[in-house]
Amino acid sequence: MKKILVATRNENKVREIRAILGDGFELVPLPPEAPDVVEDGATFLDNALKKAREYSRYSHLPAIAEDSGLEVEALGGAPGVYSARYAGENAGTAENNRLLLDRLSGVPAERRGARFVCTLVYINGGEEHVFEGEVKGHIANAGAGRTGFGYDPLFIPDGYDKPFAEMTIEVKNSISHRYNALKKLAAYLATLPGRA
Ligand code: IMP
Repeated sequence: MKKILVATRNENKVREIRAILGDGFELVPLPPEAPDVVEDGATFLDNALKKAREYSRYSHLPAIAEDSGLEVEALGGAPGVYSARYAGENAGTAENNRLLLDRLSGVPAERRGARFVCTLVYINGGEEHVFEGEVKGHIANAGAGRTGFGYDPLFIPDGYDKPFAEMTIEVKNSISHRYNALKKLAAYLATLPGRA
């Protein structure tokens, strides 16, 4: 079975990737002793490429890496690549979410459009493939809900009237930016010969 390294320390992401890619691959988690890769790129693609290249080289395996974040129209695409550290290097989710609501205070519903974006890279030897997923929606006036992580309490996807954090993880994972990128990767991998 083809071995692929999943270049993330996030257990939830590994589980999500495994659920979507199916059983045709042996998905290898990042070894705990692998060095950290600093995500200092200017774009999601820069960071995903950097992680995929460094961890593929480290493990001598094909690798999947991704970077993701939230882009808010009224803020010119912020927090974007700074999503995890919007309110500062040591800021947590609560501070990031509070800052986002502050920056949008007084902005009416029709101008609170936003999207989550996921850029996923699959690297195999000299070959690099990029897959993008997004989910569009808008930013609520206040946070609600407990499931998920990050900006989930604030993000209401189009076609729904509640934020990701008020949905089951199964529903969120069936419409998310990561799911949409992973579906594209799965379709590509299914075209490879001798996958099982
Ligand atoms: P990373 O891809 O794990 O580095 O995520 C970057 C940051 O983007 C996270 O720390 C969150 O702030 C935000 N983010 C990415 N995906 C999601 C999501 O599905 N829900 C909520 N926040 C997210």
